[in-house]
Amino acid sequence: MSQKLQQILIVDDDPVILKSLKDLLAARGYAADTAIGGKEAILKLDQNIYDVALLDLYMPYVSGHDVMAHIKENRIETAVIIVSGETSFESAREAVSKGAYDFLRKPYAADELILTLSNALKEKKLEKQNKLMQQQLRESERLHRYLVDTSPDIIYILDPEGHFTFINERVESLLGFEKNTLIGKHYSLLVHHDDLEQAKYVFNERRIGKRASRNIELRLKCKDDGVPRIFENRALPIELSSMGIYTNPNDGEQKTYLGTYGIARDVTDRKMAEETINFQAYHDLLTKLPNRALLRDRLTLAISQAKRESEALAVMFLDLDRFKNINDSLGHMIGDELLQQVSTRLKSCLREGDTLARFGGDEFTLLLPKLGEKREDVTAIAQKITSILKDPFVVDGHELYVSVSIGIAMYPQDGTNMESLIKHADVAMYHVKGKGKNGYQFYSNDMNTPYFQNLSMDTGIHKALENNEFKLVYQPQINLKSGEIVGVEALLRWEHPEHGTISPCEFIPFAEESGLIVEVGHWVLRSALAELSRWRTAGLPSVRMSINMCARQLVEKNIIPVIKQTLKEFDLPGNTLEIEITENTIMDDMDSIIRKLKELSEFGVTIAIDDFGTGYSSLSYLHRLPIQTLKIDRTFLKENRFSKGDNTIVNTIVAMAKGLQLNVVAEGVETQTQLDYLRSIDCNEAQGFLFGKPLQPDVIAQLLIQEPQAMHGASRNGLTGLRHH
Ligand code: C2E
Ligand code: MG
Ligand code: MG
Repeated sequence: MSQKLQQILIVDDDPVILKSLKDLLAARGYAADTAIGGKEAILKLDQNIYDVALLDLYMPYVSGHDVMAHIKENRIETAVIIVSGETSFESAREAVSKGAYDFLRKPYAADELILTLSNALKEKKLEKQNKLMQQQLRESERLHRYLVDTSPDIIYILDPEGHFTFINERVESLLGFEKNTLIGKHYSLLVHHDDLEQAKYVFNERRIGKRASRNIELRLKCKDDGVPRIFENRALPIELSSMGIYTNPNDGEQKTYLGTYGIARDVTDRKMAEETINFQAYHDLLTKLPNRALLRDRLTLAISQAKRESEALAVMFLDLDRFKNINDSLGHMIGDELLQQVSTRLKSCLREGDTLARFGGDEFTLLLPKLGEKREDVTAIAQKITSILKDPFVVDGHELYVSVSIGIAMYPQDGTNMESLIKHADVAMYHVKGKGKNGYQFYSNDMNTPYFQNLSMDTGIHKALENNEFKLVYQPQINLKSGEIVGVEALLRWEHPEHGTISPCEFIPFAEESGLIVEVGHWVLRSALAELSRWRTAGLPSVRMSINMCARQLVEKNIIPVIKQTLKEFDLPGNTLEIEITENTIMDDMDSIIRKLKELSEFGVTIAIDDFGTGYSSLSYLHRLPIQTLKIDRTFLKENRFSKGDNTIVNTIVAMAKGLQLNVVAEGVETQTQLDYLRSIDCNEAQGFLFGKPLQPDVIAQLLIQEPQAMHGASRNGLTGLRHH
């Protein structure tokens, strides 16, 4: 019944005819509107949309011709069926030529009229649907074109010979070519020279479906027209997917290859991301140096090359000294920044072809290939490294001093594979650490892996604390005028159940590195003060107790409260304790250490600079420090210096100490000659094997009872009391 939805207008100046026509249509199921005369017809046509009009030609005032003219002029889309008394062929032709759909003569046969009407309506309907379809097509075409042109990818079609027949606008923003200039051109115009061979396969793709090329990476050229473009690189990495295009294969008909359709996606971002990931897999993120993995690759390569060319190569293992102190006291941010600065300085020592890698934490590895035979080259680099680190680093306002321990293993004599070279460089490095750090050493076969070098060092120290394997011995310090024992220095020993007595030089550097020294230090403080308190309670002459402390201990937050608390616990006044620190300790973090030392000296505790003259001897800091004592390092007292008359250093230090009103203790006094000289220059105190080795506590107690005879030969009434203990 869809006809009924179509609109019909009947136009006649005769109301009788109008009515009869309307009735006729109604009887056949068509509802129709009517207009009496041309004027009303025009009015109605303007206001409503009719599919078909049945139009009388001869009407007074406004004729059917006028109505038709109006319809034409106003592009009214109503099909007109002329229903007229006019019978001539001429007038029918004229009406049709003016756009009428059909022409019916009056009187009409009802069936003919209905047939004509229904045909007109059908046609009208088709016409409408067609229009709608076309409109939809146009829309869809527009949509697809839009999608293609705004696609982030380059979309193109090639003819069978490889010429562009279509390419979307993206090619302009990605490569700089205007799309119309490419139509008809060969695809090779766009392909990077080095990728032409590979491009052949993808751009000539004839396969379709799963077998077609997918995600093939290529580089396309950007247009080089001298005009600065936004492309950073002249080649754009893309990923290409393509497939053949064929005529619609109707059954039995041969398919014809029409060309290739393809999509090229810009993968610059992904490539960059991949590069970053790749970089991260082989580099340390903090310092941007090669990491372990890359070092291993390069070392393996360098070894096989050295084998081929009969060359030598060196592997250096570098470990920063006391780096943990900085991390622990100033925080990781500063530690990280320092590592960056250190790696920058280290890099400046490298030759082309050397690899500096961060091995982890504060460990670096340096690979020096192509050395010929010369150890001197390696020595020169090692020296350069130690000296380049001498100047302080400034990080966030802190002046930081860094030194490094370097172990060196050479190919082929110290190892012929990667593992043994790295291991032996590591062993040599540990030897430097054990000998007081800051320096370099070549590996040698007699460096049999010492006990402390294996990983059980930390566990060993833990156990030593638990099992009471640590002991203190005490070395007397003598006043050179009176000959009295004025103090003792507590020195640590590790009575190892299997390895015998281990010297502090062997394990303290490691305890310092791992931080275990803090716990060990607390034990030393408590044991030494406990001993001193026993001596006092026993009524022995009072002496000063000197305790060694390293930087790692002093940076510890609660060190001051712990010291005060322990003194209090044993009911000892502050001035019975002296803390020995080295110059390097102070330099680690001068401001905060000075603050702590001041607090200690306000409490009466005295501070001594140990091994004076061997560290970063900067006299300028002396006046800033709350120190009372300088301990002249024993290297300045070496016998041969005296025999050569070269004693100016000791002399100078003593004179300077006097000027600063400091107490001076000469360390390592072994001979009478040394003692005589020290007396002659008015040195206050001395310590050394001449007076006594580091001794068990009960031996010290004995000496204190007898003193000062034991030390000086002068007689003095010994105090009794302890003998019975
Ligand atoms: P130091 O503080 O300079 O101690 C003096 C070292 O020289 C001691 O070695 C002592 O035995 C040795 N010595 C004393 N008189 C003579 C002499 O006349 N001739 C010679 N050749 N040597 C002499 P020791 O006990 O092996 O201690 C070595 C270092 O270990 C100490 O050097 C100190 O820096 C450190 N140390 C010892 N105990 C502790 C401790 O409890 N805590 C910390 N942090 N360090 C300690
Ligand atoms: Mg000392
Ligand atoms: Mg010393």
